[in-house]
Amino acid sequence: MKASSSKSDLFRRLPAVDELLRSEQVASLIAREGRVATTDAARTVLERMRAEIAAGHLDGQGLELAITGMGDAIERELRRALSYSLRAVINATGVILHTNLGRAPLAETALDHASEIASVYSNLEFDLETGERGKRDVHVTRLFSRLLDFDDAEIATVVVNNNAAGVMLALNSLAEGGEVIVSRGELVEIGGSFRIPDVMAKSQAVLREVGTTNRTRLGDYERAITEKTRLLLRVHRSNFQIVGFTEQPSLEELVALGRRHNIPVLEDQGSGALLDLASMGVPGEPTIADSLRAGVDVVTYSGDKLLGGPQAGMLSGKKETIARIRSNPMFRALRVDKLIYAALESTLLTYLKRDHDSIPALRMMKLPAAEIGRRAEQFVQRLKSQVHGVQAEVIDGESVIGGGAVPGSNLHTRLVALSLGDFSADELATQLRRNDPPIVARVVEGRVILDLRTVFPAQESAVLDALKSIAAV
Ligand SMILES: *Cc1c(COP(=O)(O)O)cnc(C)c1O
Repeated sequence: MKASSSKSDLFRRLPAVDELLRSEQVASLIAREGRVATTDAARTVLERMRAEIAAGHLDGQGLELAITGMGDAIERELRRALSYSLRAVINATGVILHTNLGRAPLAETALDHASEIASVYSNLEFDLETGERGKRDVHVTRLFSRLLDFDDAEIATVVVNNNAAGVMLALNSLAEGGEVIVSRGELVEIGGSFRIPDVMAKSQAVLREVGTTNRTRLGDYERAITEKTRLLLRVHRSNFQIVGFTEQPSLEELVALGRRHNIPVLEDQGSGALLDLASMGVPGEPTIADSLRAGVDVVTYSGDKLLGGPQAGMLSGKKETIARIRSNPMFRALRVDKLIYAALESTLLTYLKRDHDSIPALRMMKLPAAEIGRRAEQFVQRLKSQVHGVQAEVIDGESVIGGGAVPGSNLHTRLVALSLGDFSADELATQLRRNDPPIVARVVEGRVILDLRTVFPAQESAVLDALKSIAAV
């Protein structure tokens, strides 16, 4: 009779929520995580058991077992419900500015400053000299001027949510209802939803495309200028290259043309190099100061690409033009909060001190392949002595700057190529992703590839431990 208990019999044997909450194990969960969350978890577990009984998956014996294990089930459910969705991961892909993995990791001082500013009140918009309302821009605009080597009287910088917001704000402020001339070779898409023609349409400016995909001459721009023209736009090709039979006027030529017709030039520079990255092994990437020296009226760029700071979009340029942009009501909707100002201010001060090694993205770019190779060799030694069934070797390869910056300029690196027991490379990569902390790696030609360039040295043991525990099951 017991084995073939009717469903209503089984339902009756389920404990009531109150009863569950009084058990010793669950009471200790309440003390730790609170009554509301624990009660929710207990209800969820009970619901699940009811569904299993209803589906005929539980007989009397199965139910007894499940009831015995309910404390543990509630604890697991509680852990799942209260765990963070946004988690730290180990980036073993070698893509330094990985947009899906949060782009630039912040410098420690930037985190300290953000944490201090955010945990108490601050002078975000308060002038401590006069005791009156101030502007949040003051905290960084002066630093940008110094880093870009311009006088505060000449140029200004404002900060918005990201570079996409910066481009949209500039277009709307300077060209609403008018025309913007762009080369057909620069009608780019950056990361899926940022497409120049769409951004243009949303900012209420009319796109006037000139030239061809591979060749656009100054005359093409000049012929397109009418009384409706408000802006000449240059878009940095930050995630692709056009090679071969190509032509494009220099920024200086574009600026000279704009001056002759009294039309400002806007450059969407995107990647945002504050210094010449040639010394970091990344040649040929224009800097923001280069653009301003060439005479563009406004240049927009990201905070979390080559700058190595928090997500933000900067607009640097002629003081009067920036003031016009600043007075657009859209600015209020796109501005950033104190956490970003704090992280950005600190990152900029790090640049002022020429302490580039403290900025993780720049430090990773600069890492010589030989040094990564030494770490990789040591890692392989440890793997071989500690992980059963592993096959690993160090091979040559390339790290990628990423984040839609510096296409085609990869960095020479040394990679760990590994396989483990009977796992296929895809299975092993999946196991690594499911690890706590998750590890993201590449799969190439049937092997899992780890690039230690983007793995912080302090994270190496966690990668080793993950492989050890995957090998042990
Ligand atoms: C990256 C990039 C963008 C988008 O910048 P976000 O900071 O991701 O908003 C726009 N234009 C160019 C040229 C870029 O490189």
